Amino acid sequence: MRLDKFICKSTQLTRSEATALLHSGIVLVNGEVIKNEAAQVHENNRVTLNGEVLTARASRYIMMHKPADTICSNVDEIYPSVFNYLDVEKAQELHIVGRLDADTTGLILVTDDGRWSYNIITPKKQCAKVYRVQLRDNVSGDIISRFFRGVLLQGEGSLTLPAILDVISPKEVLLTITEGRFHQVKRMFAAVGNRVVALHREQIGDVRLDIEMGQWRYLTAAEVQSF
Ligand code: URA
Repeated sequence: MRLDKFICKSTQLTRSEATALLHSGIVLVNGEVIKNEAAQVHENNRVTLNGEVLTARASRYIMMHKPADTICSNVDEIYPSVFNYLDVEKAQELHIVGRLDADTTGLILVTDDGRWSYNIITPKKQCAKVYRVQLRDNVSGDIISRFFRGVLLQGEGSLTLPAILDVISPKEVLLTITEGRFHQVKRMFAAVGNRVVALHREQIGDVRLDIEMGQWRYLTAAEVQSF
């Protein structure tokens, strides 16, 4: 992790205060003065500030149940940010792993561990996401195989990866996808002539949403390690 970030995680200082301290030459890494805020520090490095050893706070891993008409951004825009529902210290250090549209509800993951979130969103890992979808029109007979073979989204040159569709009722389905293209679920149904009228994410990987709308909780160690 960057040295300025490490200092923020181990003190109450903001990033600019940490940078100012670093430039003043009172931060030592393994006994050597380091003034470069971008220097990398590792778990086994000994970082001191004015002679006091610093220990970084543990990373945070959170699930949140996003309400409709909120946005996955750190600041309010047309709609309020989901961070209004998250009453934790230093919330500005957290980021959302895999955003949802303003009108989509359901599971979002929030963390300050960039490596962990990369593991979830990298296309290499093909992490499964399960969406409950309400549709304008009844699902047609061949949609299961079309989604499994892949569909061409408007303006794109490659088919979507195989997706699994479970039909709950003619206008309600569960869709499992392993990519995160822009507005992917809505565009997949548009590609087959249907329309999403409500969208809710129930699961990411093995982590299932189990809290009420607007609530949040820390992930268990097993959930964190499942990615
Ligand atoms: N796909 C969409 O179209 N919207 C979302 O919010 C998530 C996936």
